[in-house]
Amino acid sequence: MTLHHMSVAELALRLADKSVSSAEITRHLLSRIEAQQGLGAFLQVDAEGATAAALAADQRRAAGDTASLLGIPIAHKDIFVTAGMPTTAGSRILAGYRSPFDATVVARLGAGEAGQPGAGAISLGKLNCDEFAMGSSNENSAYGPVRNPWDRSRVPGGSSGGSAAAVAARLLPAATGTDTGGSIRQPASFTGITGIKPTYGVCSRYGMIAFASSLDQAGPLARSAEDCALLLSAMSGFDARDATSAQRPPQDFAAQMRRPREAASPGKPLAGLRIGLPREFFPDTVAPDVVKAVRHALAELEKLGATLVDVSLPRTELSIPVYYIIAPAEASSNLSRFDGVKFGHRAAVYGDLNDMYKKSRTEGFGAEVKRRIMIGTYVLSHGYYDAYYLQAQKLRRMIADDFQRCFADCDLIAGPVAPSVAWKLGEKGNDPIQTYLADIFTLPASLAGLPGMSLPAGLGAHGMPVGLQLIGNYFAEGQLLHAAHALQQATDWHTQAPAGI
Ligand code: GLN
Repeated sequence: MTLHHMSVAELALRLADKSVSSAEITRHLLSRIEAQQGLGAFLQVDAEGATAAALAADQRRAAGDTASLLGIPIAHKDIFVTAGMPTTAGSRILAGYRSPFDATVVARLGAGEAGQPGAGAISLGKLNCDEFAMGSSNENSAYGPVRNPWDRSRVPGGSSGGSAAAVAARLLPAATGTDTGGSIRQPASFTGITGIKPTYGVCSRYGMIAFASSLDQAGPLARSAEDCALLLSAMSGFDARDATSAQRPPQDFAAQMRRPREAASPGKPLAGLRIGLPREFFPDTVAPDVVKAVRHALAELEKLGATLVDVSLPRTELSIPVYYIIAPAEASSNLSRFDGVKFGHRAAVYGDLNDMYKKSRTEGFGAEVKRRIMIGTYVLSHGYYDAYYLQAQKLRRMIADDFQRCFADCDLIAGPVAPSVAWKLGEKGNDPIQTYLADIFTLPASLAGLPGMSLPAGLGAHGMPVGLQLIGNYFAEGQLLHAAHALQQATDWHTQAPAGI
């Protein structure tokens, strides 16, 4: 097998038995990245830094270092700040911005932080994304769209579109992403790869440029549940610099993924697992090819011993207005820091201070970001706060409670990730509402703060990948990864690659 088809786990084995060096893998992937610039996946490639880091990793290994991801090339969504490379969040307002520090997730996956060694992964660069992670197609990046490697006339999903396209095109074995309302799960689904958004609080948000702070979570995108487990183990864990960080001991998700269930028997690793199917996740509006692929994957889970049970999430539809009030409200507050004074772009010509703010923000932000700032400011304004923001918060709690009622009858919840396969670039360009509506199945878990995964479930219309979504209860990442791994041991959807790769 060629190096770029190998998983993180396979590369780690090869590095450990010294049949390949990090320098070799890095050189190979850098040349692929160079040849695939047309995908638009990378905003920055640090060939020099990565090559030096790979050589250093090989030396450390020769000296006996066994850090879990030592010498494995990855890259970060450009929403994580990095000291070594510029960070833009896909926005013109941050063009040329350099952070003085690394985000916690970046440090933990890489070189480590304040006396604590990191996992030793090597960063090849920064990945394109929707501006401030607002979007579902990566068409909202100020630096151009990302193309779907399965069909370059289609979107890769968003907002972690660069991460998903790079992993699907075998430019990287894995990448980081963030998910506020679906931005890991939906691009993973659109590009036929595996992604997990952990429980809110599992990964530190320190150094992750804030969109909607009560929803934002980091997570890995990779080609298997096993690789997601390896990355998540390294990037998660309590961080005193994030006030919402979960106070839990470090987790070995790969070990949790492999631990057999008590009721398991040969050929039935999922015996005793109850998977709930919310009837609201299978409305007539879901494309038939998506339903077919999802049902096929569910049948495979049944063969492995799981039982399917009917459940209900009655407020699924309401998650769209609720999310599109709460997320813009938080965004309008978070994005007020980009004022031309402290970070990034400042207008060249302006009158007084107010005029400077106005011109800098007008020039720096794209249309979708401006729309959300306006909606957010409106719903938080005196007189409308009770009618919109407060109502949305109450409904958010009810949506979270609905999940808990479901989890009385099942262990995991399953359904589609999105109502259709990836759409054509430009197809929904002028109609933001159409794009918002396509988030219907990812928003509920985000609003509840629950962990969710997207797994490849074969191909649908136009030969495009379809994703199966699995949602777990709080901190049930191990259980999610276990079920996903069992499915991937028995099927080969996750090994399918775009033609010619
Ligand atoms: N598509 C959703 C939005 O535009 C979710 C984005 C995300 O998860 N960052 O807000």
